[in-house]
Amino acid sequence: MTNLVGTTTERIAALVAPHVDRPFRARQVAHWIVRRHAVSFDDMTDLSLALRRQLGDLFEIRDPEVVASTASGDGSTKYLFRLADGVTVEGVSMPDGSKVTLCLSSQAGCAVGCTFCVTGALGAGRNLTADEIVGQYRIMMRSAHAEAERINIVFMGMGEPLLNTTHLGDALDVLFETVSPKRITVSTAGILPGVRWLAERPRRPKLAISLNAPDQDRRREVMPISARYPLDELMNAVRAFPLERGRRITFEYVLIRGFNDAVDDAVSVARLLRGIPSKVNVIPLNEDPVHFPHLRRPDERTVDGFARALRDAGVTVTVRWSKGLDVAAACGQLRGRHQARSTAGDRVT
Ligand code: SF4
Repeated sequence: MTNLVGTTTERIAALVAPHVDRPFRARQVAHWIVRRHAVSFDDMTDLSLALRRQLGDLFEIRDPEVVASTASGDGSTKYLFRLADGVTVEGVSMPDGSKVTLCLSSQAGCAVGCTFCVTGALGAGRNLTADEIVGQYRIMMRSAHAEAERINIVFMGMGEPLLNTTHLGDALDVLFETVSPKRITVSTAGILPGVRWLAERPRRPKLAISLNAPDQDRRREVMPISARYPLDELMNAVRAFPLERGRRITFEYVLIRGFNDAVDDAVSVARLLRGIPSKVNVIPLNEDPVHFPHLRRPDERTVDGFARALRDAGVTVTVRWSKGLDVAAACGQLRGRHQARSTAGDRVT
């Protein structure tokens, strides 16, 4: 049965049109699914009971199943979603007053293998389809954020979104119907073909680059993908990335004690970003004694010193002490725990 989740208004209307008496009925159905996050045809109270039953026999409205949701002391909630084939992934909602940021997963694992990331340490997993990506958003919106005035979506959950461009593109087309592209960020470890793919799309979300080191040698150490997509080529692609007015590229920089946290490193990062409308999110490492016991978070003074050196060099900086630490929902901690496996051999390098 065709699942109508993860499908644009136009496409839903086209699918439903042959089964309704008037064209506007098909758009009504699409409106319920795309904009009102309906879970069943029974929700569609402005359709006749007979039509609702008929549509229910032809189509399904299926989201992932919520296996668990865990609230953090800081207000964020981590969701564990089970997909139709039993695979599990995680998503996080982070409310902030009338705003909310929803962190979505794009893959059930990650083959990129960044050494500071639990998802990467657990190995590769399959691509999520558009309905599985949009379903995470629908569930989180229904659960807690229907009234939020401003919604931001970040593809910073499990997986490398630019290794899943087909389904990501379809999901973005649906998400753009209710969330402005300028409020959606796709974060990548630097998959060059993916960055170029994004650059060519007619409507683009914001781009974030996971940088994490000021030079190729050190970047390659923590991000093995850098061997395939070297830093200089990545920076060329970033410089060529078309930016809408007022937009900037975000660079994420996980700060690791004694590895990339020196004031000189901050100066090198500032030099690397010169001429690029950008901002840097400094993310003190979320330690994980099991998967990377040798990596430590710098102390607060070092973090402050690093951020200050960037600012002094003219860079816009935010220090992000990750939300959801107490429920393992912070950056690099998502694992979809029921299906995790260790498959270093599956890594993309
Ligand atoms: S940081 Fe992102 S790209 Fe790197 S391993 Fe983790 S999920 Fe994959």
